[in-house]
Parts: sequence; structure tokens; C-alpha cells
Amino acid sequence: MFRHHSQPLVSAPAETAVLALLLAEGPLSRVELARRTGLSSTAVTKAARPLIDDGYLYELPPERTAPGAGRPVNPLAVAPDREYFIGLKISADELFAAVCDLRAGIRAMAGRPLSECTPGAVAAQVAGLVDELLDTDPAFRDRTRHLGVAVNGDVDRDSGRLRHSGLLGWRDVPLAELLSATTGLTVTVENDVRALTVAEHWFGEGIGTEYFALVTIGSGIGSALVVNGRLLRGAYGVAGEVGHVCVDPTGPRCRCGARGCVEAIASTDAILARVREAAANPRLTFGEVVGMARQGSPEACEAFARAGRAIGVGIATLVNVVGPERVVVSGEGVDAYDLLGRHIQDAYAAHVFGAASRCPLSLRPLPWEEWARGGAAVAIQALFPQPAPTSTIGVG
Ligand SMILES: [Zn+2]
Repeated sequence: MFRHHSQPLVSAPAETAVLALLLAEGPLSRVELARRTGLSSTAVTKAARPLIDDGYLYELPPERTAPGAGRPVNPLAVAPDREYFIGLKISADELFAAVCDLRAGIRAMAGRPLSECTPGAVAAQVAGLVDELLDTDPAFRDRTRHLGVAVNGDVDRDSGRLRHSGLLGWRDVPLAELLSATTGLTVTVENDVRALTVAEHWFGEGIGTEYFALVTIGSGIGSALVVNGRLLRGAYGVAGEVGHVCVDPTGPRCRCGARGCVEAIASTDAILARVREAAANPRLTFGEVVGMARQGSPEACEAFARAGRAIGVGIATLVNVVGPERVVVSGEGVDAYDLLGRHIQDAYAAHVFGAASRCPLSLRPLPWEEWARGGAAVAIQALFPQPAPTSTIGVG
């Protein structure tokens, strides 16, 4: 995170645990908070006090209790409008941003095409986009301090530098510093798939899980893992790369240089190349290939089946090694879900080992606003001391 001016909202472990749990799970009584965090009731009350005073938490009206059950309890809840966060997705030809509340609920969205994809041009455009969003409501302007950026590539989150992005063609860009200078906000930059995984772990299907994986399919195959409640980074910044699991050592060459990676078989480009070759028509588009498969073209159906199998085997490998509680498969490619889904599920079921097969796969589309929401989730983490204490959410 590039610290422009703001400090984490919470620093004491007890405050961190209480706020993280309420953010992810909604209202809870102090008794329940104590049970789930392992803190004493007194410690919970003490931790909540400053957050109530600052307006981040409030007490709900007392819950009705059975006669004779003791005094009524007031559950604690997060005040979602206490602070807003801007999430931004940068792609090669478009910026997409959303204002989100404290629980990552989207409150406003805006996008603009990028005519020039250089860091300087993008930083200037982001400032305009942020202004446009903050102008939609005076409360946004008053209560927004953080911008979270989801971007393709290798990101050093601590320094806010984008080390390398193949999709944008950028190398070693101090992105957080640049965007902080043009927007005046505290900026956190994260790899887009990891940002999406944070959003899904804190506020989506991954809530309460200690082990969770997300896989995105489309022009590339991305993935990220949560282990022991934390986003896994790996000793060298690589961990859980399903896209480069080898499923066919004699398969097509991958852009990473290896052969037969999941991505070399299952990316939209790989499917397209396969059908173009099989149909001897180098001008086919991906949309046409989808249409051909839906009409039963054997070449197109085979390419999607092969892609689905590669993804299913890759995910089974990941599940066998790490043992997540669930896996979400999402992406632009899920538009072709009817063509891929069955093959993914069948190959997964055939290759997942033993009790790990209890881990369900859920497939669903990935609209653009979800990427921006991922950026906002990363910005919300800036309220906590680094590294973000996702583990406190998984307790219980
Ligand atoms: Zn590869």
C-alpha cells in the first residue's frame, strides 16, 4: 500500500478481529463475537467501543429474548455508509470503477474507454473517473479516502509497484504512487485475480472458509488461493497457478514457454486456434466458434470439451494438493458455460481424490463490476494492519 496520508483504522488485534468478523458476516451479538474470536466478552466490549464512537459500528435494537432468558442483547453491526471506497479495474482498453460501501456493496459505477494505455495517460484518466464518481453524491466526496486497484500482472502490493503486466505492456511502474498523486487518495494495488479472490473470500462465497480457491477463465486462466484464511503469495510470488498446471506434456506450446499447460488448451485464444486449424478457416472469430459449437459442429464441440477437461483436471490437481472447502470458477469464458461446464465438472469429478471430492465447484459469470468490487475489497483491507487479517474471518 502506498501510504498517502491515512493510517489503518484498527491496530489492536482485538479490534481487528471484531471489525473483520462483523464486516464479513453481518450483525453478531457480543456473546457470539466472543465465541467466534476467542476473546472474552469484556475484551469484545472494549474493542468495539472506539469503533462505535467513530461511527463504524452501531448497536441494533435489542433482540427479543424468551421470558426469563436474561437481559436483551443488542447485536453489533457495521455502519456500511461510514466510509466509502473506490475500486478500479484497469484493462488495456478500458477503465472501470465503482464506489463501494464498507461491506463492498456497489453504490455507483462508471467506466471510460482508454485511447492510450501508458501509465501517465491512465493516471490522468483515473483522476477524471474518480472525480466523476465522487461528484455523484456529496457523502462519497466526504467519506472516501481509499482507492483499490485491480490490475493484470505481477504486483508488489507492499510497494504499490506493478512489476510486469503482459496485457498492459507495462514494466516496473510505481502505480500506487502515480495514482495517489493524481487522485489524492491512499492507493492499494493488487493483481486482479487476487483482488477478486479477496472480495469473494470476505464478502462472497468464501465467507468463513479457511481454504478457498478462485479460478478465472477467459483470455487467460487465472487463479488465487486462500490458505489458513490468508491469500497465498508463495515464496517467489507464484502459488496455485492452475493456468500453468501441465495436463498434456505433448500438448500445444503455452505463452509461458512450457507445453500443454491448462491455459495453452483452455484460454479463448487456444480454443479459437484449435477450431481455426481443424476447420481450416483462419478467419473465424471466437463468437463464431461459440455459435458453431452450439449448433453441434464436431470441431468446435471437441475444442470446448478439450478445454473443459483441461480446466477440470487442473482444478482437481489444485484441490488434491491444497484441499480447499470450495472453488469458484468465474470469468468471461463462463459465457460459454453451457459448452464448458459439463466437461469441467466431469473431469474434476474423475480426477479429484478421496474426501477432497467434497469440495464443490461453482461456476458463474464475471461481470465487469466484480473486478472493480475486487479493487474496493482490497481498499477496505487498508483499514487493517498489513498483512490483512483475513484469518480472523475464518475463525469458527
Ligand atoms: Zn504455461
